[in-house]
Amino acid sequence: MDARLEAIRNTVLARNPGEDEFHQAVTEVFESLGPVHDRHPEFLEGAVLERLCEPERQIIFRVPWTDDAGRVQINRGFRVEFNSALGPYKGGLRFHPSVYLGIVKFLGFEQIFKNALTGMPIGGGKGGADFDPRGRSDAEIMRFCQSFMTELYRHIGEYTDVPAGDIGVGGREIGYLFGQYKRITNRYESGVLTGKGISWGGSLVRPEATGYGTVIFTEEMLKTRGQSFDGQRVVVSGSGNVAINAIAKAQSLGAVVVACSDSSGYIVDEAGLNVALLRQIKEVERGRLKDYAVRRSAVAYVEGGSIWDVDATVALPCATQNELGGEAAARLVRNGLVAVGEGANMPSTRHAIAVFQDSGLLFGPGKAANAGGVATSALEMQQNATRDSWSFEYTEQRLTEIMVGIHRRCETTADEYGAPGNYVLGANVAGFVKVADAMLAQGLI
Ligand code: GLU
Repeated sequence: MDARLEAIRNTVLARNPGEDEFHQAVTEVFESLGPVHDRHPEFLEGAVLERLCEPERQIIFRVPWTDDAGRVQINRGFRVEFNSALGPYKGGLRFHPSVYLGIVKFLGFEQIFKNALTGMPIGGGKGGADFDPRGRSDAEIMRFCQSFMTELYRHIGEYTDVPAGDIGVGGREIGYLFGQYKRITNRYESGVLTGKGISWGGSLVRPEATGYGTVIFTEEMLKTRGQSFDGQRVVVSGSGNVAINAIAKAQSLGAVVVACSDSSGYIVDEAGLNVALLRQIKEVERGRLKDYAVRRSAVAYVEGGSIWDVDATVALPCATQNELGGEAAARLVRNGLVAVGEGANMPSTRHAIAVFQDSGLLFGPGKAANAGGVATSALEMQQNATRDSWSFEYTEQRLTEIMVGIHRRCETTADEYGAPGNYVLGANVAGFVKVADAMLAQGLI
Protein backbone atom coordinates (compact mmCIF):
# COMPACT_ATOMS: atom_id res chain seq x y z
CA MET A 1 0.00 0.00 0.00
CA ASP A 2 1.12 3.56 -0.78
CA ALA A 3 2.93 4.92 2.31
CA ARG A 4 0.80 8.11 2.46
CA LEU A 5 -2.36 6.06 2.41
CA GLU A 6 -1.04 3.50 4.85
CA ALA A 7 -0.52 6.21 7.47
CA ILE A 8 -4.14 7.34 7.05
CA ARG A 9 -5.33 3.73 7.12
CA ASN A 10 -3.48 3.08 10.37
CA THR A 11 -5.12 6.08 11.99
CA VAL A 12 -8.53 4.87 10.86
CA LEU A 13 -7.85 1.42 12.35
CA ALA A 14 -6.65 2.90 15.64
CA ARG A 15 -9.69 5.18 15.86
CA ASN A 16 -12.06 2.26 15.32
CA PRO A 17 -10.72 -0.60 17.43
CA GLY A 18 -12.25 -4.05 17.21
CA GLU A 19 -14.16 -3.42 14.00
CA ASP A 20 -12.45 -6.12 11.93
CA GLU A 21 -14.79 -6.12 8.94
CA PHE A 22 -14.61 -2.33 8.69
CA HIS A 23 -10.81 -2.53 8.79
CA GLN A 24 -10.86 -5.13 6.03
CA ALA A 25 -13.13 -3.07 3.77
CA VAL A 26 -11.07 0.09 4.30
CA THR A 27 -7.78 -1.72 3.65
CA GLU A 28 -9.08 -3.31 0.46
CA VAL A 29 -10.19 0.06 -0.93
CA PHE A 30 -7.01 1.90 0.13
CA GLU A 31 -4.87 -0.68 -1.64
CA SER A 32 -6.35 0.49 -4.95
CA LEU A 33 -6.04 4.22 -4.40
CA GLY A 34 -2.31 5.01 -4.46
CA PRO A 35 -2.17 5.94 -8.18
CA VAL A 36 -5.30 8.10 -7.84
CA HIS A 37 -3.53 10.28 -5.27
CA ASP A 38 -0.53 10.70 -7.58
CA ARG A 39 -2.87 12.14 -10.18
CA HIS A 40 -5.05 14.08 -7.75
CA PRO A 41 -2.98 15.74 -5.02
CA GLU A 42 -6.08 17.79 -4.14
CA PHE A 43 -7.62 14.67 -2.59
CA LEU A 44 -4.80 14.48 -0.03
CA GLU A 45 -4.84 18.23 0.61
CA GLY A 46 -8.57 18.11 1.18
CA ALA A 47 -8.20 15.11 3.53
CA VAL A 48 -10.81 13.29 1.49
CA LEU A 49 -9.85 9.84 2.78
CA GLU A 50 -9.89 10.89 6.42
CA ARG A 51 -13.33 12.42 5.93
CA LEU A 52 -14.61 9.45 3.94
CA CYS A 53 -13.69 6.99 6.69
CA GLU A 54 -15.52 8.98 9.37
CA PRO A 55 -19.28 8.45 8.97
CA GLU A 56 -21.29 11.67 8.77
CA ARG A 57 -23.58 10.34 11.49
CA GLN A 58 -23.94 7.11 13.50
CA ILE A 59 -27.06 6.20 15.40
CA ILE A 60 -27.21 3.34 17.92
CA PHE A 61 -30.45 2.68 19.73
CA ARG A 62 -32.35 0.32 21.99
CA VAL A 63 -35.05 -1.82 20.41
CA PRO A 64 -37.38 -3.19 23.11
CA TRP A 65 -40.13 -5.64 22.16
CA THR A 66 -42.12 -8.50 23.64
CA ASP A 67 -42.00 -12.05 22.33
CA ASP A 68 -45.00 -14.33 21.98
CA ALA A 69 -44.52 -15.61 25.52
CA GLY A 70 -44.86 -12.04 26.80
CA ARG A 71 -41.18 -11.77 27.75
CA VAL A 72 -39.37 -8.50 27.23
CA GLN A 73 -36.55 -8.67 24.67
CA ILE A 74 -33.91 -6.02 24.03
CA ASN A 75 -31.91 -5.66 20.84
CA ARG A 76 -29.50 -3.06 19.55
CA GLY A 77 -30.39 -1.08 16.43
CA PHE A 78 -27.97 0.79 14.15
CA ARG A 79 -28.03 3.25 11.31
CA VAL A 80 -24.74 4.55 9.98
CA GLU A 81 -25.26 7.51 7.65
CA PHE A 82 -21.88 7.31 6.00
CA ASN A 83 -21.70 9.72 3.08
CA SER A 84 -24.21 11.98 1.36
CA ALA A 85 -21.98 13.55 -1.32
CA LEU A 86 -23.98 12.04 -4.16
CA GLY A 87 -27.48 11.87 -2.70
CA PRO A 88 -29.50 10.82 0.34
CA TYR A 89 -27.94 8.00 2.36
CA LYS A 90 -29.00 4.73 0.76
CA GLY A 91 -28.46 1.18 1.87
CA GLY A 92 -30.13 -1.78 3.46
CA LEU A 93 -30.98 -2.94 6.97
CA ARG A 94 -29.58 -6.26 8.16
CA PHE A 95 -31.27 -8.27 10.92
CA HIS A 96 -28.84 -10.95 12.05
CA PRO A 97 -27.32 -11.91 15.42
CA SER A 98 -23.81 -11.12 14.11
CA VAL A 99 -24.66 -7.45 13.54
CA TYR A 100 -22.54 -4.96 15.49
CA LEU A 101 -21.07 -1.57 14.62
CA GLY A 102 -18.10 -3.05 12.68
CA ILE A 103 -20.42 -4.96 10.34
CA VAL A 104 -22.71 -1.99 9.75
CA LYS A 105 -19.70 0.24 9.05
CA PHE A 106 -18.09 -2.17 6.60
CA LEU A 107 -21.39 -2.45 4.77
CA GLY A 108 -21.95 1.31 4.82
CA PHE A 109 -18.42 1.99 3.61
CA GLU A 110 -18.78 -0.45 0.70
CA GLN A 111 -22.16 1.05 -0.09
CA ILE A 112 -20.65 4.51 -0.75
CA PHE A 113 -18.57 3.21 -3.68
CA LYS A 114 -21.19 0.76 -4.89
CA ASN A 115 -23.83 3.45 -5.04
CA ALA A 116 -21.45 5.82 -6.82
CA LEU A 117 -20.75 3.13 -9.44
CA THR A 118 -24.44 2.78 -10.27
CA GLY A 119 -24.44 6.34 -11.61
CA MET A 120 -27.61 7.03 -9.60
CA PRO A 121 -27.97 9.99 -7.19
CA ILE A 122 -27.57 8.06 -3.94
CA GLY A 123 -25.17 8.38 -1.01
CA GLY A 124 -24.09 5.52 1.24
CA GLY A 125 -25.52 4.21 4.50
CA LYS A 126 -26.41 0.97 6.21
CA GLY A 127 -28.22 -0.21 9.30
CA GLY A 128 -29.69 -3.14 11.11
CA ALA A 129 -29.98 -4.91 14.40
CA ASP A 130 -28.52 -7.89 16.23
CA PHE A 131 -32.00 -9.42 16.12
CA ASP A 132 -32.26 -13.06 15.03
CA PRO A 133 -35.40 -13.50 12.94
CA ARG A 134 -34.88 -17.27 12.73
CA GLY A 135 -37.76 -19.14 14.36
CA ARG A 136 -39.66 -15.96 15.19
CA SER A 137 -43.38 -15.79 14.47
CA ASP A 138 -44.87 -13.28 12.10
CA ALA A 139 -46.30 -11.35 15.05
CA GLU A 140 -42.88 -11.17 16.72
CA ILE A 141 -41.29 -9.92 13.50
CA MET A 142 -43.97 -7.25 13.26
CA ARG A 143 -43.52 -6.08 16.85
CA PHE A 144 -39.77 -5.95 16.39
CA CYS A 145 -40.05 -3.94 13.15
CA GLN A 146 -42.51 -1.52 14.74
CA SER A 147 -40.23 -0.93 17.70
CA PHE A 148 -37.20 -0.52 15.43
CA MET A 149 -39.00 2.09 13.31
CA THR A 150 -40.29 3.93 16.38
CA GLU A 151 -36.72 5.14 16.83
CA LEU A 152 -35.49 5.09 13.23
CA TYR A 153 -38.30 7.22 11.75
CA ARG A 154 -36.83 10.48 13.09
CA HIS A 155 -33.58 9.92 11.21
CA ILE A 156 -34.85 8.93 7.76
CA GLY A 157 -36.84 10.48 4.92
CA GLU A 158 -36.99 10.47 1.14
CA TYR A 159 -34.47 13.34 0.94
CA THR A 160 -32.41 12.24 3.95
CA ASP A 161 -31.89 8.52 4.27
CA VAL A 162 -33.67 5.70 2.44
CA PRO A 163 -33.24 2.22 3.98
CA ALA A 164 -34.08 -1.05 2.23
CA GLY A 165 -33.52 -4.76 2.88
CA ASP A 166 -30.41 -6.85 3.39
CA ILE A 167 -29.90 -10.20 5.14
CA GLY A 168 -32.98 -10.93 7.30
CA VAL A 169 -34.98 -8.02 5.90
CA GLY A 170 -37.23 -8.69 2.91
CA GLY A 171 -40.64 -7.61 1.65
CA ARG A 172 -42.44 -8.65 4.83
CA GLU A 173 -40.17 -6.59 7.10
CA ILE A 174 -40.20 -3.57 4.77
CA GLY A 175 -44.01 -3.72 4.94
CA TYR A 176 -44.09 -3.59 8.73
CA LEU A 177 -41.43 -0.86 8.80
CA PHE A 178 -43.29 1.24 6.23
CA GLY A 179 -46.60 0.83 8.04
CA GLN A 180 -45.09 2.07 11.29
CA TYR A 181 -43.33 5.01 9.58
CA LYS A 182 -46.62 6.07 7.99
CA ARG A 183 -48.47 5.72 11.28
CA ILE A 184 -45.99 7.83 13.25
CA THR A 185 -45.46 10.56 10.66
CA ASN A 186 -48.96 10.61 9.15
CA ARG A 187 -47.31 10.77 5.73
CA TYR A 188 -47.57 8.36 2.83
CA GLU A 189 -43.97 9.00 1.90
CA SER A 190 -43.31 6.20 -0.59
CA GLY A 191 -39.69 7.19 -1.20
CA VAL A 192 -38.62 6.68 2.42
CA LEU A 193 -38.00 2.94 1.99
CA THR A 194 -37.34 0.72 -1.01
CA GLY A 195 -38.14 -2.92 -1.55
CA LYS A 196 -41.83 -2.17 -0.96
CA GLY A 197 -44.65 -4.43 -2.17
CA ILE A 198 -45.68 -3.89 -5.75
CA SER A 199 -49.21 -2.69 -4.93
CA TRP A 200 -47.99 -0.02 -2.50
CA GLY A 201 -45.12 1.74 -4.19
CA GLY A 202 -42.62 -1.02 -4.88
CA SER A 203 -40.83 -1.61 -8.15
CA LEU A 204 -41.06 -4.64 -10.37
CA VAL A 205 -37.66 -6.39 -10.67
CA ARG A 206 -36.49 -5.11 -7.25
CA PRO A 207 -36.74 -8.61 -5.68
CA GLU A 208 -34.79 -10.14 -8.56
CA ALA A 209 -32.37 -7.26 -9.08
CA THR A 210 -29.33 -8.17 -6.96
CA GLY A 211 -29.15 -11.76 -8.20
CA TYR A 212 -29.96 -10.87 -11.81
CA GLY A 213 -27.47 -8.00 -11.73
CA THR A 214 -24.69 -10.23 -10.42
CA VAL A 215 -25.20 -12.63 -13.31
CA ILE A 216 -25.43 -9.81 -15.86
CA PHE A 217 -22.15 -8.34 -14.57
CA THR A 218 -20.46 -11.75 -14.60
CA GLU A 219 -21.71 -12.40 -18.14
CA GLU A 220 -20.12 -9.09 -19.20
CA MET A 221 -16.82 -10.21 -17.65
CA LEU A 222 -17.04 -13.57 -19.45
CA LYS A 223 -17.71 -11.81 -22.76
CA THR A 224 -14.34 -10.03 -22.53
CA ARG A 225 -12.78 -13.48 -22.95
CA GLY A 226 -15.16 -14.71 -25.63
CA GLN A 227 -17.11 -16.80 -23.10
CA SER A 228 -20.61 -16.76 -21.63
CA PHE A 229 -22.73 -18.51 -18.99
CA ASP A 230 -23.89 -21.00 -21.60
CA GLY A 231 -22.66 -24.44 -20.55
CA GLN A 232 -20.88 -23.25 -17.40
CA ARG A 233 -21.02 -25.32 -14.23
CA VAL A 234 -22.07 -22.85 -11.56
CA VAL A 235 -22.04 -22.98 -7.77
CA VAL A 236 -24.02 -20.35 -5.88
CA SER A 237 -23.64 -20.06 -2.12
CA GLY A 238 -26.62 -19.04 -0.04
CA SER A 239 -30.31 -19.64 -0.75
CA GLY A 240 -31.81 -16.28 0.10
CA ASN A 241 -33.21 -13.71 -2.25
CA VAL A 242 -29.89 -12.90 -3.94
CA ALA A 243 -28.87 -16.54 -4.43
CA ILE A 244 -32.20 -17.79 -5.78
CA ASN A 245 -32.46 -15.03 -8.35
CA ALA A 246 -28.83 -15.48 -9.39
CA ILE A 247 -29.55 -19.18 -9.93
CA ALA A 248 -32.64 -18.39 -12.01
CA LYS A 249 -30.82 -15.86 -14.19
CA ALA A 250 -27.73 -18.05 -14.71
CA GLN A 251 -29.97 -20.92 -15.78
CA SER A 252 -31.83 -18.68 -18.22
CA LEU A 253 -28.45 -17.99 -19.85
CA GLY A 254 -27.75 -21.70 -20.27
CA ALA A 255 -25.70 -22.46 -17.16
CA VAL A 256 -26.11 -25.58 -15.05
CA VAL A 257 -26.29 -24.45 -11.42
CA VAL A 258 -25.45 -27.52 -9.38
CA ALA A 259 -25.27 -26.35 -5.78
CA CYS A 260 -26.47 -23.83 -3.21
CA SER A 261 -26.32 -23.62 0.58
CA ASP A 262 -27.83 -22.40 3.81
CA SER A 263 -26.26 -21.97 7.23
CA SER A 264 -26.74 -25.69 8.00
CA GLY A 265 -25.31 -27.26 4.84
CA TYR A 266 -25.43 -27.45 1.08
CA ILE A 267 -27.18 -29.39 -1.66
CA VAL A 268 -25.73 -30.75 -4.88
CA ASP A 269 -28.17 -31.43 -7.71
CA GLU A 270 -26.17 -32.44 -10.75
CA ALA A 271 -29.24 -32.17 -12.99
CA GLY A 272 -29.41 -28.47 -12.21
CA LEU A 273 -31.27 -26.88 -9.29
CA ASN A 274 -35.06 -26.68 -9.53
CA VAL A 275 -35.77 -22.99 -8.87
CA ALA A 276 -39.52 -23.45 -8.39
CA LEU A 277 -38.91 -25.98 -5.61
CA LEU A 278 -36.25 -23.75 -4.04
CA ARG A 279 -38.66 -20.80 -4.03
CA GLN A 280 -41.42 -22.95 -2.54
CA ILE A 281 -39.18 -24.12 0.31
CA LYS A 282 -37.29 -20.91 1.04
CA GLU A 283 -39.77 -18.16 0.18
CA VAL A 284 -43.20 -19.72 0.79
CA GLU A 285 -42.48 -22.19 3.60
CA ARG A 286 -39.46 -20.31 5.02
CA GLY A 287 -37.94 -23.77 5.43
CA ARG A 288 -34.47 -25.31 5.18
CA LEU A 289 -32.52 -26.67 2.23
CA LYS A 290 -32.51 -30.11 3.80
CA ASP A 291 -36.15 -30.35 2.67
CA TYR A 292 -35.09 -29.94 -0.96
CA ALA A 293 -33.10 -33.17 -0.85
CA VAL A 294 -36.05 -34.98 0.73
CA ARG A 295 -38.39 -33.90 -2.07
CA ARG A 296 -36.17 -34.45 -5.11
CA SER A 297 -34.30 -37.59 -6.11
CA ALA A 298 -30.57 -37.81 -6.81
CA VAL A 299 -29.78 -34.83 -4.64
CA ALA A 300 -26.99 -34.88 -2.09
CA TYR A 301 -27.42 -32.87 1.09
CA VAL A 302 -24.18 -32.26 2.97
CA GLU A 303 -24.72 -31.18 6.55
CA GLY A 304 -22.08 -28.69 7.67
CA GLY A 305 -19.01 -28.49 5.45
CA SER A 306 -18.27 -25.91 2.81
CA ILE A 307 -20.10 -25.50 -0.47
CA TRP A 308 -16.75 -24.44 -1.96
CA ASP A 309 -15.75 -28.11 -1.95
CA VAL A 310 -18.00 -28.42 -5.00
CA ASP A 311 -16.15 -27.87 -8.29
CA ALA A 312 -17.36 -25.12 -10.58
CA THR A 313 -16.30 -23.08 -13.57
CA VAL A 314 -18.19 -20.06 -12.26
CA ALA A 315 -18.64 -19.29 -8.54
CA LEU A 316 -21.23 -16.82 -7.31
CA PRO A 317 -20.83 -16.28 -3.56
CA CYS A 318 -24.23 -14.91 -2.51
CA ALA A 319 -24.35 -15.72 1.21
CA THR A 320 -22.37 -13.43 3.52
CA GLN A 321 -19.05 -11.75 4.29
CA ASN A 322 -15.83 -13.80 4.42
CA GLU A 323 -17.54 -17.03 3.42
CA LEU A 324 -14.88 -17.90 0.83
CA GLY A 325 -11.32 -18.17 2.13
CA GLY A 326 -7.89 -18.54 0.56
CA GLU A 327 -7.69 -22.33 0.68
CA ALA A 328 -11.09 -22.81 -0.89
CA ALA A 329 -10.14 -20.25 -3.54
CA ALA A 330 -6.93 -22.12 -4.36
CA ARG A 331 -8.79 -25.42 -4.67
CA LEU A 332 -11.44 -23.92 -6.95
CA VAL A 333 -8.73 -22.38 -9.13
CA ARG A 334 -6.90 -25.72 -9.40
CA ASN A 335 -10.13 -27.40 -10.48
CA GLY A 336 -10.98 -25.13 -13.38
CA LEU A 337 -12.67 -22.00 -12.06
CA VAL A 338 -12.82 -19.24 -14.69
CA ALA A 339 -14.92 -16.51 -13.04
CA VAL A 340 -16.20 -15.27 -9.69
CA GLY A 341 -19.05 -12.77 -9.32
CA GLU A 342 -19.76 -11.62 -5.78
CA GLY A 343 -23.51 -11.41 -5.08
CA ALA A 344 -22.94 -10.88 -1.36
CA ASN A 345 -21.00 -8.03 0.26
CA MET A 346 -17.31 -8.90 0.77
CA PRO A 347 -17.83 -12.70 0.60
CA SER A 348 -14.22 -13.38 -0.42
CA THR A 349 -11.49 -12.86 2.15
CA ARG A 350 -8.49 -10.73 1.17
CA HIS A 351 -6.48 -13.93 0.84
CA ALA A 352 -9.08 -15.43 -1.51
CA ILE A 353 -9.11 -12.28 -3.66
CA ALA A 354 -5.31 -12.43 -3.92
CA VAL A 355 -5.51 -16.08 -5.04
CA PHE A 356 -8.15 -15.27 -7.66
CA GLN A 357 -6.28 -12.28 -8.99
CA ASP A 358 -2.91 -14.05 -9.09
CA SER A 359 -4.45 -16.86 -11.10
CA GLY A 360 -5.65 -14.40 -13.73
CA LEU A 361 -9.30 -15.46 -13.61
CA LEU A 362 -12.19 -12.99 -13.83
CA PHE A 363 -13.06 -11.59 -10.41
CA GLY A 364 -16.01 -9.21 -9.99
CA PRO A 365 -16.05 -7.62 -6.51
CA GLY A 366 -19.38 -7.19 -4.74
CA LYS A 367 -19.43 -3.44 -4.86
CA ALA A 368 -19.64 -3.70 -8.64
CA ALA A 369 -21.22 -7.11 -9.22
CA ASN A 370 -24.03 -6.84 -6.66
CA ALA A 371 -24.93 -3.19 -7.30
CA GLY A 372 -28.05 -4.17 -9.24
CA GLY A 373 -30.12 -4.31 -6.05
CA VAL A 374 -29.44 -0.83 -4.87
CA ALA A 375 -29.58 0.48 -8.45
CA THR A 376 -33.10 -0.87 -8.77
CA SER A 377 -33.89 0.70 -5.40
CA ALA A 378 -32.90 3.99 -7.00
CA LEU A 379 -35.25 3.15 -9.89
CA GLU A 380 -37.96 2.54 -7.29
CA MET A 381 -37.26 6.00 -5.82
CA GLN A 382 -37.50 7.46 -9.30
CA GLN A 383 -40.92 5.84 -9.83
CA ASN A 384 -42.09 7.03 -6.41
CA ALA A 385 -40.97 10.60 -7.12
CA THR A 386 -43.00 10.69 -10.32
CA ARG A 387 -45.88 8.59 -8.91
CA ASP A 388 -45.36 6.17 -11.76
CA SER A 389 -44.81 2.43 -12.07
CA TRP A 390 -42.89 0.84 -14.87
CA SER A 391 -43.32 -2.51 -16.59
CA PHE A 392 -41.13 -5.49 -15.75
CA GLU A 393 -39.54 -5.38 -19.21
CA TYR A 394 -38.66 -1.70 -19.03
CA THR A 395 -37.28 -1.95 -15.50
CA GLU A 396 -35.23 -5.02 -16.35
CA GLN A 397 -33.85 -3.22 -19.39
CA ARG A 398 -32.82 -0.29 -17.18
CA LEU A 399 -31.15 -2.70 -14.74
CA THR A 400 -29.28 -4.38 -17.59
CA GLU A 401 -28.07 -1.03 -18.93
CA ILE A 402 -26.88 -0.05 -15.46
CA MET A 403 -24.96 -3.31 -14.93
CA VAL A 404 -23.38 -3.14 -18.39
CA GLY A 405 -22.45 0.48 -17.59
CA ILE A 406 -20.85 -0.48 -14.26
CA HIS A 407 -18.86 -3.19 -15.98
CA ARG A 408 -17.67 -0.75 -18.63
CA ARG A 409 -16.74 1.86 -16.00
CA CYS A 410 -14.69 -0.69 -14.04
CA GLU A 411 -13.03 -1.97 -17.18
CA THR A 412 -12.07 1.43 -18.62
CA THR A 413 -10.88 2.71 -15.24
CA ALA A 414 -8.67 -0.37 -14.79
CA ASP A 415 -7.25 0.20 -18.28
CA GLU A 416 -6.71 3.89 -17.58
CA TYR A 417 -4.72 3.03 -14.45
CA GLY A 418 -2.59 0.42 -16.20
CA ALA A 419 -4.25 -2.62 -14.62
CA PRO A 420 -6.38 -4.17 -17.38
CA GLY A 421 -8.88 -6.76 -16.16
CA ASN A 422 -8.51 -5.71 -12.52
CA TYR A 423 -12.14 -5.11 -11.56
CA VAL A 424 -11.23 -4.52 -7.91
CA LEU A 425 -9.06 -1.57 -8.83
CA GLY A 426 -11.56 -0.39 -11.45
CA ALA A 427 -14.49 -0.43 -9.02
CA ASN A 428 -12.63 1.17 -6.13
CA VAL A 429 -11.07 3.92 -8.22
CA ALA A 430 -14.15 4.77 -10.30
CA GLY A 431 -16.39 4.86 -7.22
CA PHE A 432 -13.90 6.82 -5.14
CA VAL A 433 -13.11 9.53 -7.72
CA LYS A 434 -16.78 10.30 -8.22
CA VAL A 435 -17.42 10.68 -4.49
CA ALA A 436 -14.16 12.56 -3.85
CA ASP A 437 -14.88 15.12 -6.58
CA ALA A 438 -18.35 15.74 -5.17
CA MET A 439 -17.02 16.07 -1.61
CA LEU A 440 -14.44 18.66 -2.64
CA ALA A 441 -17.00 20.61 -4.66
CA GLN A 442 -19.31 20.80 -1.64
CA GLY A 443 -16.67 22.29 0.68
CA LEU A 444 -15.46 21.23 4.09
CA ILE A 445 -18.49 19.55 5.62
N1 GLU B 1 -28.68 -4.33 0.85
C1 GLU B 1 -28.49 -4.16 -0.56
C2 GLU B 1 -27.04 -3.88 -0.87
O1 GLU B 1 -26.18 -4.44 -0.22
C3 GLU B 1 -29.48 -3.19 -1.17
C4 GLU B 1 -29.52 -1.82 -0.57
C5 GLU B 1 -30.65 -0.96 -1.10
O2 GLU B 1 -31.42 -1.38 -1.96
O3 GLU B 1 -30.72 0.19 -0.63
O4 GLU B 1 -26.69 -3.15 -1.74
